[in-house]
Amino acid sequence: MSPTASADTVLVNGAVYTVDAARSWAQAVAITDGRIAIVGTDDDVRQAVGPGTEVVDLAGRMLVPGFQDAHVHPVSGGLDMLQCNLHDLSTADEYLAAIQAYADTHPEVPWILGGGWSMDAFEGGTPTAAALDRIVPDRPVYLPNRDGHGAWVNSLALTIGGVTGDTPDPADGRIERDAQGEPLGTLHEGAGDLVNVHAPEPSADDLAEGLRKGQEYLHSLGITAWQDAIVGTISWSNNLDTYMRAATSGELTARVVGALWWDRHQGLEQIDALIDQRAGGVAGRFAATSVKIMQDGVCENFTAAVLSPYLDAHGAETDNRGISFVDPQLLREAVTRLDAEGFQVHFHALAERAVRESLDAIEAALQTNGPSDGRHHLAHLQVVHPDDIPRFRQLGAVANAQPLWAAHESQMDDLTIPFLGEPRWRWQYPFGSLVRSGASLAMGSDWSVSSPDPLEEIHVAVNRQMPADYPHKVENREVFLPEERLDLATALAGFTMGSAYVNHLDSTTGSIEVGKFADLAVIDRNLFEHPVEEIASATVHQTYVEGERVFAASHA
Ligand SMILES: [Zn+2]
Repeated sequence: MSPTASADTVLVNGAVYTVDAARSWAQAVAITDGRIAIVGTDDDVRQAVGPGTEVVDLAGRMLVPGFQDAHVHPVSGGLDMLQCNLHDLSTADEYLAAIQAYADTHPEVPWILGGGWSMDAFEGGTPTAAALDRIVPDRPVYLPNRDGHGAWVNSLALTIGGVTGDTPDPADGRIERDAQGEPLGTLHEGAGDLVNVHAPEPSADDLAEGLRKGQEYLHSLGITAWQDAIVGTISWSNNLDTYMRAATSGELTARVVGALWWDRHQGLEQIDALIDQRAGGVAGRFAATSVKIMQDGVCENFTAAVLSPYLDAHGAETDNRGISFVDPQLLREAVTRLDAEGFQVHFHALAERAVRESLDAIEAALQTNGPSDGRHHLAHLQVVHPDDIPRFRQLGAVANAQPLWAAHESQMDDLTIPFLGEPRWRWQYPFGSLVRSGASLAMGSDWSVSSPDPLEEIHVAVNRQMPADYPHKVENREVFLPEERLDLATALAGFTMGSAYVNHLDSTTGSIEVGKFADLAVIDRNLFEHPVEEIASATVHQTYVEGERVFAASHA
């Protein structure tokens, strides 16, 4: 713009943290036609104030690029908020009371759906059908836990799913059983589908409402873009159409990259269908240009793929090495083809064997195809073998961190560390090591698995301790592997430029620089001027996408 043209909006008198290459600061920003026109001092932007300009006084608050969540499930998260929502509770009694209350106030719903319970509320991480039968005997109940890797069902749901003592475990899951082999009420991983396939699917309207709710919530946390980690037309996640409709109508105010679901029960023949989905999957601020391959499960139920076996509760070695959902040879072929077709691959790679198999697959693609701009990324990275740390940089693989999990809490201390054993439990969430090795870092929440609040994520990335007032009770205040802490600047860059890079949005978003979209968040304080132990108590006051205010806190 010419210096004399007037801006639509100017934000003045702030602590503007630009996240540009020099990590420079400014005081004010002018916005014209949805783009950043000036970054500088209050005097610099004053020349752009005309009669129609909205002047926003930041009053010393911090202005940052809008956060980008590199791994999140907003449609199902929003749906959970509208169904039997257990996410913000923490004890078995609270869960049962909430389920009963939901059932009582929703007599019309044929199934009790929703979820978000935490494994650490139950002995062995496995709640029982009997507990549900006492409060909801007459309608099926199907409630996934907060990480989505297990489901709590009542007896009627087991009957509807035909799950009995004679039912074999599916290849990709496990039925929790008593000593006689009878199902107890927890279904791990793919075993949940035995019941879930009978539950009514959410309607197109339900999904649209879920996206609306999810987007509103994420905007309220300063998030302006994300990568949806499961997009597709598979039965339980028919949300590609949801995004396309919202993007076409303009209702989608966030920028979203969709990661199309790789069906682990099929092989390379599905790639043609993925290409078709991508061709019909780009509109407005939405682009389904990534493919999500879930390579393993989670540690707490021993389905994460490990190199040496899990230990049992007495510290003795078992014969269980977890599950590689995709055969490693097929994985190499699939990633090579997807890379050649111009897809990005977004791996769920949680434990050290899955991480290695995913890196091997990226290496195979690189050897066959040469360098690409795929920006393939590995999400979760709970356990990484030290030998694999330098390979991220060597292969251009992005580390997609969910830092909220990198702290002592009962799920970590009681359900994970004893079963990983020495020295392996010390290889968890090695974000400091990855950054020191030169790896690119992106960040995300995996909401609705856990909180989508980037300030809570950044808090734990920096402190490796849960925030003091976190809803789940945390008694162990020891810093979790202190050498893996990140500094605040690195964590902020991960949640802005780092995730923008993974989303292929770094040329237009991710930093506050002239010419980029005015996707911005106002934080109530300058985080750098407060102790890092207080990061999580900061809140977002306003969120902007292309200069439009998409969230404003009522009290600010
Ligand atoms: Zn996820």
